[in-house]
This record gives sequence, C-alpha cells and structure tokens, in this order.
Amino acid sequence: MTNPLYSALFAALAERDTVLMHLPAGRSLTARAFHDLIGQAANALVAAGVRPGDRVAVQVAKSPEALAVYAATVSVGAVFLPLNTAYTPDEVSYFLGNAAPRLFLCDPAREAALAPVAAGHAAGLMTLDGAGGSFAAAMAGQATGFVPRDRAPGDLAAILYTSGTTGRSKGAMLSHDNLLSNAEVLADLWQFTEQDVLLHALPIFHTHGLFVASNVSFLTGGQMIFLPGFDLNEVLAALPRATAMMGVPTFYTRLLDDARFTRDLVAHMRLFVSGSAPLLAETHADFEARTGHRILERYGMTETNMNTSNPYAGERRAGTVGFPLPGVELRIMADAAEVAPGEVGGIEVRGRNVFLGYWQMQDKTAEELRADGWFITGDLGRLDADGYVQIVGRAKDLVISGGFNVYPIEVEMVLDEQPGVLESAVIGLPHPDFGEAVFAVLVAQNGAALDPAAVLAGLRERLARFKQPKAAVVVAALPRNAMGKVQKAELRKTYAGWFA
Ligand code: ATP
Ligand code: MG
Repeated sequence: MTNPLYSALFAALAERDTVLMHLPAGRSLTARAFHDLIGQAANALVAAGVRPGDRVAVQVAKSPEALAVYAATVSVGAVFLPLNTAYTPDEVSYFLGNAAPRLFLCDPAREAALAPVAAGHAAGLMTLDGAGGSFAAAMAGQATGFVPRDRAPGDLAAILYTSGTTGRSKGAMLSHDNLLSNAEVLADLWQFTEQDVLLHALPIFHTHGLFVASNVSFLTGGQMIFLPGFDLNEVLAALPRATAMMGVPTFYTRLLDDARFTRDLVAHMRLFVSGSAPLLAETHADFEARTGHRILERYGMTETNMNTSNPYAGERRAGTVGFPLPGVELRIMADAAEVAPGEVGGIEVRGRNVFLGYWQMQDKTAEELRADGWFITGDLGRLDADGYVQIVGRAKDLVISGGFNVYPIEVEMVLDEQPGVLESAVIGLPHPDFGEAVFAVLVAQNGAALDPAAVLAGLRERLARFKQPKAAVVVAALPRNAMGKVQKAELRKTYAGWFA
C-alpha cells in the first residue's frame, strides 16, 4: 500500500531544489523547503494526537505553512477540513459540531473567541498564521522527515463544506481517488507542465484554489506565484512572471477595469481559466478584445471537483462551460428521463471525481446521490447544438409562474442593462393567482435614484410578459454568503408575504 495523493502530489518535492513558490516581498520557497515544512507539520499533527481518519479543521490565513498543513494531513492519513476565514464563531461551531475534528487550527488573533467553541466540541485548539502561532512553533521543533501513512484510493483525504448558497453547508467527503483523478484529467486537458508558473491568488479553503489550482500545479511539478489574496496591484506586478492564471469572474472584471492591464502585459501568458460562478459573455468578449486571449471557462462544485471544461485547443465558447471532462459522464434530466437536445433539465454527473456522500447527512446523500453513482448537481442546464454545456441556473431558484418556467438569470441580465441598475436578483414569491410570481430585488448604481416602476417598464419590449417581474424593490446591497454568492433563500424569506 501507499498514500496515493501524497505520492502523486508531494513526494517528488523532496528531490527538487528549484523554486516552488514565489511569495510577496521578493521572498521564495524551494520545493525541498516546502517538503520540509510538510514533514514538520506531519510530525506536529501526530504530536498533537492526530491519527489516521481524524479530521483536522483549519480556519487560517493563506500561507505556505497553511498549504503544508493540507499536505501533512494527507500524509498522516487524516482528513483535511478547511473553513472559510470569514466564518463567525457561531458558524464555526456548526462545522466543528458536524465534523468532530481532533484538532482545530485558527488564527492567533481569533484564539480567545474560538477557544470556547473548540472546547465545546472537544477539539484541540492550536494557532497558525504563516510562520506564527502555536502550531508553527510546534512545527519548528519537529524533524523534517516523515514516512507517509498507507491509504487506499477510496479513503477520505478531505471533507470540504459546500458554500451554503442554497441552505446549510454540507460536508462533501472526498477520497484520494476523487481528488487525484480530477487533477490528472485537468493537468492533461489544460496542458500543464513543469514549465508552468501558476498565478495563485484564490483562497485555499475552497475547491478552486485548494484542489483545482494547487493540485494541478503540484502534480505537474511547476511553480506558483502564491499570493495571500487578489490584490490588483500585486496581481498586475506578478503577471509578467506567470504562464497561467486561475480565477473567479471578478478577477477578470477587476483586471479589465484597470488601464494598466494591457495586451503587452499578458502577451506571453499561456492560459486564463475561470470558474466558480458564471462568466458573463460580455466579460469574455471584453477580455479577448483587450488581450487577444480567450478565457477558458469550466464548471465544477465542492462535491465533484470539476465536471466540464471548454477545450484547450478547440473553440472556447462564451456563455458555456464546455464539454464533460474525460471520464466524467453528464446527462440532462427532467421527469426521470433525459431531455431532448437543447431542452433545459437538471444536470447529473457520474465519474471518479464524484464524492462519497455528505458527512453525517445520510438523508441528504440519499436525496442527491443516486445508488448507481449519478449525482444530482442541483444546477439546471442544456446542451447546445455542438454539445457545449450551458448552465441556466439552480433548480432551487427556478420560478414557475402561472405554469411557465422562468430562469432568473435571463431576467437578471436584462435588468442589469437598465439605466441606473448595478445588479439584481430575481426570485419567485408565493402568489394567490400565479402560484409563484417573479419578483426583482435591485441595487442602484452609485448615486443613482432608482424607480422600480421605471426599471420594470424598460423590460416590456425585451421579455415575454410571464417573465417580467410583477414587482421590484431597491435595496442597498444583496445578501451574500462568505463566498460572495447571492443568498436567494434569504430574499425569498424576507419578501415571502409580498403578494399574499
Ligand atoms: P450549496 O451547495 O451549499 O448551496 P454552492 O453550491 O454555492 O453552495 P459550491 O460547491 O461552492 O457551493 O458551488 C458550486 C456551484 O457554483 C455549482 O453548483 C454552480 O451552481 C456554481 N458554478 C460553479 N462554476 C460555475 C460556472 N462556471 N458557471 C455557473 N455556475 C457555476
Ligand atoms: Mg451546491
């Protein structure tokens, strides 16, 4: 037996003297030095009582040490459980209660607030902030050598909680094989090699930055420009040294908003990838006009890692998320059957990438993961004439008004074009005649005085009557969760009685 994920991603670092990570302020870390950190972290975890199968929860700032804890957790045969740094003590309490970790690492500045939470769930508490904190001190006192524990491909490597956009976050159980198979497919498809320098500005508590970005880079032996977050100035300064970047759509809109982001600055780049939220076709077009690069959009989620991707060599089609990845089956379902080509239905996927189930939530698992391996993603989509997958929205956000399906994103796109509208969220509310009525929540552009009736009047020529919101309100800001995703469930609750 071996440790599949450790062997594939981290073992070879011990033999490499070249730079692995470029860090802020001109610092860098060699692959061998990072491997030493992994060994020290593994020994520190064992010293803290962590045994194979235990969960290690971390809510810490992004740093090489934090990433080494991920590798070390895999190495000791335990289960890595990263948490969004924005979560409050109350939210953390839910995760610790659900996952019952042996050890919880938090930021030293939050130790006092989180100590009672950790104690309440019988988790050991240590702190980490880069090279600071009690866990960093424990690492420094440890030897660098550690023999990875044996694991089977189906053993858990991580529990990653979903973003909590549609309800309570669920812990997706991910095996060594889930993570490794997906990294292998992506590395091959996106043609990553040891020549690549990946600009890494994503958080490492989410599947995008932790698995898609880091695992692909580790697997292929390249370098990373490892930034603590997306800082426009830092990213602009780093781009000349990068060959590839992975980002969320806001990375790209923020770059485009800055005149220093020019064609020359990125002429040498090989690849820009986008995911985690829909990339507007307009952003795709603006990016190409500015840089000559076509952003490669892909689609995935916590439970499955990545499912689809636009092609590397073929046409990257704006407004689509491309084709199912090699080894991933995808089907579009309605009423227990596959829909006709072009029709909208629920997206289901099956493959080695699909998780083992939700931790401690058997009912949820049974609802969303079929016995024959198909996972009901909760997203609605369709295949275009050439087989490209288009995401239409979430099943839970679909509005059925007077028997007609209304896809909120279609209405939101038209609302957002109206004068004075910064952004919008379209939801369905209970209505005595229509069952559900379309309702719009609007945010005004800076300083604009927005008249909801005038905005709705602007939709009359653009959308069929049944798609037009029956009412709209203006709010200061849309409610978002810690991942920045709009919480429509909360909006539905707030305005539930509007048409009653
Ligand atoms: P929860 O499952 O707790 O409600 P969540 O689904 O937002 O939260 P994540 O796993 O972080 O949690 O997000 C995955 C979702 O993000 C997908 O199901 C999909 O709705 C959306 N998504 C990801 N990539 C894309 C993309 N390229 N285009 C459109 N939507 C995307
Ligand atoms: Mg989800």
